[in-house]
Amino acid sequence: MATVQLKNINKVYDNGFHAVKDANINIQDREFVVLVGPSGCGKTTTLRMVAGLEDISSGDLTIDDKRVNDVPPKDRDIAMVFQNYALYPHMTVHDNMAFGLKIRKFDKADIQARVNEAARILDIEALLDRKPKQLSGGQRQRVAVGRAIVRHPKVFLFDEPLSNLDAKLRVQMRAEISSLHTRLNATMIYVTHDQVEAMTMGDKIVVMKDGVIMQIGDPLTLYNYPTNRFVAGFIGSPAMNFLTMKVTEENGTIYGDEGNFKIELTGKVAQVAKEKVGKEIIFGIRPEDMVYAAENAPENTTISASVEVVEPLGAEIHIYVNTGSNQLVVRVPPSHMVQVGDAIKLTPNMDKVVVFDIETEEALN
Ligand code: ATP
Repeated sequence: MATVQLKNINKVYDNGFHAVKDANINIQDREFVVLVGPSGCGKTTTLRMVAGLEDISSGDLTIDDKRVNDVPPKDRDIAMVFQNYALYPHMTVHDNMAFGLKIRKFDKADIQARVNEAARILDIEALLDRKPKQLSGGQRQRVAVGRAIVRHPKVFLFDEPLSNLDAKLRVQMRAEISSLHTRLNATMIYVTHDQVEAMTMGDKIVVMKDGVIMQIGDPLTLYNYPTNRFVAGFIGSPAMNFLTMKVTEENGTIYGDEGNFKIELTGKVAQVAKEKVGKEIIFGIRPEDMVYAAENAPENTTISASVEVVEPLGAEIHIYVNTGSNQLVVRVPPSHMVQVGDAIKLTPNMDKVVVFDIETEEALN
């Protein structure tokens, strides 16, 4: 059992910098929680406070309902895997994994059993006599994870553990850590700036910006129901498109006027936009939620734009288009080839549009 709770956690560094602001996170037993956000958003600081490597300025941190703010790191029953792996260069793989147990005075047979078990789980049995410099990046990463596994901790913490690996290995290790989570049945907290890593690994994702938690949710909730423009733009690649439109009403119909085209808003989008007649809104649409308009598509149901860049990726094409004021990216099947300079019309799926308040940037629907 290991639940972790952050209640109104703040971190103010000695120089007065407020790095984490009123963080509230509930982590369930065996959950894989990812903290994600751009550089400097406070995710590493948050993780280090959970580990006990950084003092908590205010708020309560509990592990299994016990307040641990003042419990030293070694007594928190937590193991952390660092970005740079922090392996001892002069020790073998075996000794790197055994070291933490030795200094905790585990008996020899227990150490041996735990190292062997971790090596088997991570498939590094053949490497136990090597030194770190004789290993590839991916193998070093496994040893760093092994060092955490041997401790049988209640909670595993990962600080950008894959950022030093090349793209292909990153994808492979991503899957390995996910499968490790399933096998170990442990609570894991994982920090990354990579939203794809967050989406593919997290049961629950915490999106942070400037020390503030923007949204907490499972991957699809964040993707489909972002609470604000930041989350909408951060989660998803290529990113959601944002168009500023002025809302107008003509004979009971609600339109979004982008300047270069005017589009009829329908369904829920119309309902929320109706409250903003005469004002501007931000119209958010994901690249995959637009299709080429049918030849006979009625006027005022399409977005008009010209093609600027075509990126054929094999399984799909990304087309960058310009409306005259805004650049959009559209994701279409590979059969839909167009040429740079083509004028095209796109029909957005109104059920997928997210409308944001122009000032607060909060989602309105
Ligand atoms: P990255 O992805 O770049 O590691 P991060 O989201 O993990 O970023 P943190 O390392 O938590 O960010 O840092 C959050 C903010 O706190 C940053 O603006 C950083 O400059 C600041 N900060 C970090 N450590 C200290 C410190 N010891 N003293 C003062 N400010 C600090």
